[in-house]
Amino acid sequence: MFDYHLHSKVSFDSSCAPADIVMAAEKAGLKEICFTDHYDFNDVYKDKRDLFTIEQYRTAYDSIVSPKVKIRRGVEFGLTTWNQKELNDLLRLYDFDFVIGSVHFAGGYDPYYEAFWTHNGIDTAFEKYLLQSLECVKSQNNFDVLGHLNYVCKSEHSPTRKPLYYKDYADICDEIMKTLAQNGKGMEINTSGVDRVGDFLPSIDFIKRFRELGGEVITVGSDAHDASRVGQHIAGALEIAKDIFGYVCTFEKRKAVFHKL
Ligand SMILES: [Zn+2]
Ligand SMILES: [Zn+2]
Repeated sequence: MFDYHLHSKVSFDSSCAPADIVMAAEKAGLKEICFTDHYDFNDVYKDKRDLFTIEQYRTAYDSIVSPKVKIRRGVEFGLTTWNQKELNDLLRLYDFDFVIGSVHFAGGYDPYYEAFWTHNGIDTAFEKYLLQSLECVKSQNNFDVLGHLNYVCKSEHSPTRKPLYYKDYADICDEIMKTLAQNGKGMEINTSGVDRVGDFLPSIDFIKRFRELGGEVITVGSDAHDASRVGQHIAGALEIAKDIFGYVCTFEKRKAVFHKL
């Protein structure tokens, strides 16, 4: 089992020690994990950034080892349409194994917070988020997989608390996934939606379509911000990867490694 989306206290929104994450991974019987801490940009207030320093990152991870779990070092970079240089600068400072590109802002707000919903409207919020994601994947190329494609639906402030279905936004979603496939980028099956909206982020209908559109790279991750969620629902995500791809990917020094399932 693999968990390729994990946060420790290197991220602004976690207080969990890296060693506790590793211990939880050992306990859960995981074979390989990747830390993917937030390096995030506000799309409107460009001075508002949730970043770590490379010193913090090195202190947390450079000496961390486990006899049971292979540990990789990655980042979850907050994609906007204007921060290509910031991403390239970061990647020059550290030899990351894996880069998740995630869209955390649309129309100036993060869907995680209530203000996003009051400013974007309930009916148009999903579409606005997807259109922003499309612009981001078209203007950025230095990441490995797109994080939680339908992140917008997992917010506890989403008035409907419903998953985002591929069929409702098929045209935009096809454009996003086609762009990823053409650029050799992957998608992740993020399990943090299972307890929130009853489905993976994104759900199986997206993953099937991604494969049809030529997508080849697929990873799985819990998006845990504390030890209790490490490896959670990963078995279910691997079942989807197995059914549709027959394999799942891990990364070493930005190169995909394919594991037959
Ligand atoms: Zn995220
Ligand atoms: Zn995350």
